[in-house]
Amino acid sequence: METIIKTESLTKIYNPLSLNPKLALDQVSLDVKEGEFIAIMGKSGSGKTTLLNILSTIDDLTKGKLFIYGKNIYEMSETERAHFRKENIGFIFQNFNLLDTLTVNENIILPLKLAGKIIDEEDFKQIIKDLEIDDLLDKYPFECSGGQSQRVAVARTLVMHPKIIFADEPTGNLDSENTENIIHLLENLNRSTGQTIIMVTHDNELAKRCNKRVELSDGKIVKVSL
Ligand code: ADP
Ligand code: MG
Repeated sequence: METIIKTESLTKIYNPLSLNPKLALDQVSLDVKEGEFIAIMGKSGSGKTTLLNILSTIDDLTKGKLFIYGKNIYEMSETERAHFRKENIGFIFQNFNLLDTLTVNENIILPLKLAGKIIDEEDFKQIIKDLEIDDLLDKYPFECSGGQSQRVAVARTLVMHPKIIFADEPTGNLDSENTENIIHLLENLNRSTGQTIIMVTHDNELAKRCNKRVELSDGKIVKVSL
């Protein structure tokens, strides 16, 4: 399979000019192939979120290179990068990041609206049916359980059909039944559409179900297992 993400000596220093610069990623070199489902593991503070944010182009790097689909992300202008992100990248957060003043329906279609895309009704219906959230569309996030909220957040990502999905501990706030639902869903998605998924998890059992495990310690990759 084709390599779609490649980093070369990716280094991230927070507050580089301060008295307390923080080396969060230390020369990370990583390849992600098309269609892979990768688990990023490691203790709290090891750099997992930092890595995910940089790979997904949400945050910028300090040194090194990032290529996605062969393009050097930091040779793009901010406008090009925003366009690239919109076309290729989806993100699922641990705390769902739904907007409380919008209904479930409005939350799901928000990224489409922001991207100026037309809503494909058939596609929308299929996604909410698959996620079993058809009954929630007029509710507000505070009326939804954790498991429901995460399914809504997944729907909001899926309507954009991103080629690459990043998930930062997507089941970190869920009980075991809802965790299984979400992971099963991501697995199915990965198998059926070939979307590439990169997921941060603390959970060894979940990580075992991925194609590849990348373990971070103090900002370095210390182990990659297939
Ligand atoms: P993880 O997700 O594995 O828990 P993070 O990537 O969030 O780790 O953080 C890696 C290290 O960088 C930690 O020591 C954390 O305290 C530090 N860090 C994270 N974000 C910032 C920031 N915005 N400013 C300064 N230090 C940060
Ligand atoms: Mg984190």
